[in-house]
Amino acid sequence: MMENPTVAIVGRPNVGKSTLFNRLIAERKAVVEKSPNVTRDRIYGRARWKGETFEVVDTGGLDLESSAEIAQNIKYQVDKAIEEADIILFVVDVREGISPLDREISQKLRKCDREVIVAANKMDDFSAQDEPWEFYNLGFEDVLPISAEHGKNIGDLCDKIFARIDIDDFKKNSADDKEILGVAIAGKPNSGKSTLVNQILGQERVIVSPEPGTTRDAVDSIFERADNKFKLIDTAGLRKKSKVEEDVEYYSNLRAIRAIERADVVVMMIDSVEGITEQDKKIAGYAHDEGRPIILALNKWDLIEKDTHTADIFREEVYRQMKFLRFAPVIFISALTGKRVGEVLDLIEYVYDQTLQRISTGLLNEVVEEAVQMNDPPAYKGKKLNIYYATQPEVQPPVFVFFVNDPELVHFAYERYLENKIREAFGFVGTPIILKFKER
Ligand code: GDP
Ligand code: GDP
Repeated sequence: MMENPTVAIVGRPNVGKSTLFNRLIAERKAVVEKSPNVTRDRIYGRARWKGETFEVVDTGGLDLESSAEIAQNIKYQVDKAIEEADIILFVVDVREGISPLDREISQKLRKCDREVIVAANKMDDFSAQDEPWEFYNLGFEDVLPISAEHGKNIGDLCDKIFARIDIDDFKKNSADDKEILGVAIAGKPNSGKSTLVNQILGQERVIVSPEPGTTRDAVDSIFERADNKFKLIDTAGLRKKSKVEEDVEYYSNLRAIRAIERADVVVMMIDSVEGITEQDKKIAGYAHDEGRPIILALNKWDLIEKDTHTADIFREEVYRQMKFLRFAPVIFISALTGKRVGEVLDLIEYVYDQTLQRISTGLLNEVVEEAVQMNDPPAYKGKKLNIYYATQPEVQPPVFVFFVNDPELVHFAYERYLENKIREAFGFVGTPIILKFKER
């Protein structure tokens, strides 16, 4: 999976971080759950500039009242930024000048090995104000005046970001990664993710294993199985447990999102004893929206009292609660005892093959024609939908384009019917598929 450079936005409250974040992003990737002391939901987005893509993280997710809390939070925020990002945008306010908090942040940032760009924000009127010279006193080479609110110099800022990132290096690294199947083990805290990771790494031939607390580049574990290489994404993060109680859910969601972004396949760990929770739905929903193949692993199966129907009952309950994941295989495992952990790896390979399936136009149209013959699209507003033909232009996730007389006439139920027919004919087990309708 292609990996993009990540830019983190840091700064004290009110300098314009969220305004800048919203300016930069083309596409909001996630609305992360609000936890008690997190008052912002915007946190993670994707930006595009001159054909290149980068991820943006607004690390200032904590909005605190007292100055003591703010100061304490700065340390946390900056640590997160350094951990998450390749480049840091340090936002300051030209109207207020350098404040003690700005100095504190810059002290921390100077010690890290990330590139830092100072965005001197609220420079609304370029002609009326001087260059923001005073901000060079913070000790960074790059200081750029911007106005987040009025969209001034944002392009120059993006140029500066890319001047500081070796984009070819990123591309080369992702090309090297092509042969390795990236797996994200997602799930809420205590669902058994770390136990599964340890079980797998204990069973398989490990090539690279991270030590907790080492650099950002070594957090993935790579192992080999038969002729295939797998990468367990972000496993150091899995092992490390947050100390801040209220933030556990918030940051575990953020981590899950970032792991899912980088994954080819997502293994969603569900605690069988607890059943499906809102957090499970949220994480799974995100994997689904991202088009990733998903395996639902019902873990701690050793703790469940079973008879011959138990598995079926659990499977139905999972699908009932997460209707959007009916295509995802369910497997009952025990990460602790190792039961069916090998099968999880088999399934990962299988669903990955499924998401790479490409159906020929001829075969696809046979299936579509038959589907239409069996169940003619119902008329809508007195007009009838005509499907002329379909193609599959993309894989991973598979995309199907239907050329029709009028896309407005496609009813949700009929779209689902077509999706079911495609799945009946070709499988696509475990992978979301996308149907698009275009006027011809
Ligand atoms: P954050 O706390 O750092 O995320 O700051 P916000 O993005 O919430 O912005 C704080 C305030 O500054 C808001 O009232 C914004 O409208 C304002 N603001 C942000 N960028 C600019 C700017 O470029 N010029 C001016 N004049 N105001 C801005
Ligand atoms: P994580 O927070 O998702 O990484 O969860 P952990 O791997 O730390 O597991 C949380 C707790 O559940 C630990 O006490 C594990 O020993 C336990 N656990 C994990 N998997 C299983 C399992 O399959 N069966 C049982 N009985 N306990 C498990």
